[in-house]
Amino acid sequence: MDFGIKGRKAIVCAASKGLGRACATALAREGVELVITARTASELEATAAAIRAETGVKVTAVAGDIATPEGRAAALAACPEPDILVNNAGGPPPGDFRNWEREDWIKAIDANMLAPIFLIKAVVDGMSARRFGRIVNITSASVKSPIPVLGMSNGARAGLTGFVAGLARQVAKHNVTINNLLPGPFLTDRLRSGAAHAAKASGRNVDDVLAERGAENPTGRVGDPAEFGNACAFLCAASSGFIVGHNLLLDGGAFNSSIA
Ligand code: NAP
Repeated sequence: MDFGIKGRKAIVCAASKGLGRACATALAREGVELVITARTASELEATAAAIRAETGVKVTAVAGDIATPEGRAAALAACPEPDILVNNAGGPPPGDFRNWEREDWIKAIDANMLAPIFLIKAVVDGMSARRFGRIVNITSASVKSPIPVLGMSNGARAGLTGFVAGLARQVAKHNVTINNLLPGPFLTDRLRSGAAHAAKASGRNVDDVLAERGAENPTGRVGDPAEFGNACAFLCAASSGFIVGHNLLLDGGAFNSSIA
């Protein structure tokens, strides 16, 4: 299937690894030119080189923290008029809310709620004027089914979800769509480090913990980031203009509901 986005321009945030990288790769395979961001320049450059080598598209690496105004300004300077924006950042740490101070919450809200909102603010009117825009926010399955130890993630992402639900309906008439992708367990460094933490705490080995995570999922496995990237590219397709304001859960069926 041709997604009809060859030659379009995208900013994909937090894309040197994991789900962001998978989204960037899937878009590049559709012929989309990329600006990708992450804080660690060396890893980001290596990812840009790998995507370029595989797909032949133009990939510009912009190192910076997307949770800061400077990081966002640098990404936007490299691609002032994106057709596609994929919002992503690292998730907040787990813990007990009794130990979190205002500064901890502000960091989570900056990264997982305000960074996407300010990037959307910077690009959405231009997309509307050009009558094409696809915005995808990477959130979490925890938006539908909160994870007790990830209270800051549950809270900050719920705030983003509420905001974009309203905005998506205001810009859809201009062929600008805003949707959210909600990952369940995908085999990325984040999942591996969570498994390593659980393994250490329980005296088991990491592979056993990861196998257990897979076994408890209806599919019998954890997700492959490439599957996530393909869903992102689909939401960005030219023919996806009628998919508006969705929260697409990619969790292998782990959320137990008659209507997911
Ligand atoms: P990952 O494998 O750890 O990759 C995170 C990527 O984001 C890296 O490229 C990292 O590079 C970059 N990054 C992190 N913070 C950044 C920032 N402030 N500015 C710019 N780049 C930043 O993580 P992932 O598993 O792909 O997760 C992506 C998002 O999905 C996270 O918010 C996570 O909480 C959420 N999520 C993941 C899963 C899962 O199973 N994987 C499930 C639910 C939710 P640098 O460190 O160099 O900046």
